[in-house]
Amino acid sequence: MLPCAIDRHTVVAGAPRNDGRIRIHSREMSGDGAPAEVRPEETQAPAGDWVDYLRGAVVMVAEETGRIPPGLDLAVASDVPGESGLSSSAAFGVALVTALERALRANLGPEARGRLAHRSESEFVGVPCGIMDQYASALGRRDHALQIDCRSREVVEVPLPGESLRILVADSGVRRRLATGQYGDRKAECEAACAAAAGGLAGPGRAAPDSLRDIEAADLTTLEPALDPILFRRLRHVVTENARVHAFRTALDASDFVAAGRILREGQQSLRNDFEVSIEELDTLCEAGDTTPGIYGSRLTGAGFGGCTVHLVDQATSSEAAEAIADKFEQRYGRRPRVFEVTPADGAEVLS
Ligand code: ADP
Ligand code: MG
Repeated sequence: MLPCAIDRHTVVAGAPRNDGRIRIHSREMSGDGAPAEVRPEETQAPAGDWVDYLRGAVVMVAEETGRIPPGLDLAVASDVPGESGLSSSAAFGVALVTALERALRANLGPEARGRLAHRSESEFVGVPCGIMDQYASALGRRDHALQIDCRSREVVEVPLPGESLRILVADSGVRRRLATGQYGDRKAECEAACAAAAGGLAGPGRAAPDSLRDIEAADLTTLEPALDPILFRRLRHVVTENARVHAFRTALDASDFVAAGRILREGQQSLRNDFEVSIEELDTLCEAGDTTPGIYGSRLTGAGFGGCTVHLVDQATSSEAAEAIADKFEQRYGRRPRVFEVTPADGAEVLS
C-alpha cells in the first residue's frame, strides 16, 4: 500500500550534558519514573526495553557519521497512538536519529534518517520490519502519499488531494506487539514460498526469483498446483498487493477515487483470506466503512492482528462517516472505537 506520514508527532527535545552521557525520559514510557541512561562511547547491547531504540540510534548514527554522539538530556513526548499499527516505533526511531544528527551537527537528511532508523529497529532492537514505516516517517510530504520501492529504495510522491479526499483512522482497541506477533511468521512463510516458487518457475530463459517481487500475477496459475496451499496464499497476497500498489497510484493520478477505494477493499480481502492477518474487529471496522455513504474503501493498516483500519472518504462527508463507523462497531462490541481524521504531513524535521 502507499503509506504517508500523518499529522501526529513524536517530539524529542535535547540539551547538551558535559559528562558524555545520554539521559532519556519519555512521557509515554517513563511516566513519573527516572530517566534512563546510555553511555554512547561504550559498546551497546540490546536490553529488551524501549531504550533500545536510543541505543540502536546511537550505534547507527555513529557508524554513519564516524562520530560518537555527545552527552545529552533528551525528553520525548508523542501523540502517535502506540502499538496500534500507526508505527509509533518508526516515529520514535526517526525522531531519535534526527535528534542525534542535530546534536552532532551532522547533515544526514531525510533518506538517511529513515534508513538508519530502520537498521536500528530491525538489526539492533530486533523487530523483523521492512523499511516502509521509517521511510514514511522520514520522507513523508504534506498532502502526498509515498510509493516506495523497497528493493531499489526509490520513493515517488503521489498527490492526495485534500480538498476532495480525507483519510479516517479507526482504532479497534485490540493491541498487539510487532516483535512478538506473527509478522515474523509471515516473513518466514514468504521466504519459503519464494524458495518453493523458484522450483516451479525456473526454466530456460527465466532465472529463479530472488524475491516475491519477481513473480507476476500471470505466474499464479502455474504455481498454485506446485505449492503448499498456505504458502501459495501468502505468495498470492504479496504478488497481488504489488499489483495493487501500482493500480492505486494510477487511480490517484487520475483522481479516480472509486477505483482507489475498490483497490483498498481488495487489499483487505487479500489480507484477510490469503495473508490471514486480519481479525474480526478489523473486518467489522472495514465492513462498517464500506457500507457507509462517502467512504470509497477500507483496509487494515500496519501488521494486522489488531490496531487500526484506514478509510478513504469523501471530504464532504468525513465527519458523519467517522460517527457512522463508530456507531456500527459499538452496536456489535458494546464499546465505542476512536475514529479520527488524519492528514498526510511532512516527515521528521529539526525544530528550534
Ligand atoms: P507501533 O505499531 O506503534 O509501531 P510497536 O510495538 O512497533 O507499535 O512499537 C511500540 C514500541 O515503540 C513501544 O513499546 C516502545 O518500545 C517504542 N516507542 C514508541 N513510541 C515511544 C515513545 N514515545 N517513547 C518511548 N518509546 C516509544
Ligand atoms: Mg512498530
